[in-house]
Amino acid sequence: MTKTEARDRMADVMERFLTLASRRLPDDVYAWLKRCRDAETSPLQKVVYESYFENLEMAQKLDRPCCQDTGLPHFYIRCGADFPWIGAVEPALRQAVARATVSAPLRPNAVDFFTERNTGDNTGERMPWLHWDIVPDSSDLEICTYFAGAGCSLPGRAQVFKPADGYGAVVRFVFDAVSGLALNACPPLIVGVGLGHNIENAGVLSKMACLRPLGTRHPHPKGEKLERDLLAGLNALGVGAQGLPGDRIAMAVHVESSARHTATIAAAVNVSCYTHRRGFITFHEDMSFDQSSYQGVTL
Ligand code: SF4
Repeated sequence: MTKTEARDRMADVMERFLTLASRRLPDDVYAWLKRCRDAETSPLQKVVYESYFENLEMAQKLDRPCCQDTGLPHFYIRCGADFPWIGAVEPALRQAVARATVSAPLRPNAVDFFTERNTGDNTGERMPWLHWDIVPDSSDLEICTYFAGAGCSLPGRAQVFKPADGYGAVVRFVFDAVSGLALNACPPLIVGVGLGHNIENAGVLSKMACLRPLGTRHPHPKGEKLERDLLAGLNALGVGAQGLPGDRIAMAVHVESSARHTATIAAAVNVSCYTHRRGFITFHEDMSFDQSSYQGVTL
């Protein structure tokens, strides 16, 4: 296989995968959303959830994205050090995004920062956004796709605290972020909290936290407890789906962390809405692939 053939193959597969991800929620998110619906007791919340599920059903029936804001495409990539087609990845993803903008269709959301001209195909300077991690001793390419809509990007926040502020400052910061603009981000949310030593590592970790499969836990017992406590506290705010009165503003709170400087505590919050359009797909060195997000789907 040549590099051009590898790029074309990846672009074809990713165009179809992006189209699928724009229309259907991944299985874990769909199941979690159902659990939230079934646990709500208020008649108002039941109506909101009914409209959510009707919307998701109609998206599939009509072959259309499940939200008008198809966001901007982000790719979180775990690239095996021995994957042979690294040079084909960026052009293939760019091509896939441009083509899916027409075929899905995705709303053209990318605007050049300074000219403010819409690029028309969701690509542009550093768009699609690619984040790379290198995985030693692997020849696979794992891609996590995510459509970042405006509603869930607006509440994003990051701040660096002094250790004297204490970990309580981090908790207050998460509550302020979620009880502010996040109410408009079509709850129930997935809340990603990044904890580290400066703005940029906390910010990336908060996004990675959002993308983690539902049901997974922080590996450290204190991290896991923080996830549980934040979820319980946020869900006691009395806010539910669509920011209306209810029992669940969040489906999950995920925390990702890194070591920090002795004199800093950095925290970032990212949220994702009920249409959490995130998909996992893995390419192997012969360019065969597996996707693990949607049971029973052949691309
Ligand atoms: S927050 Fe999510 S569901 Fe709501 S409009 Fe934005 S992308 Fe759509």
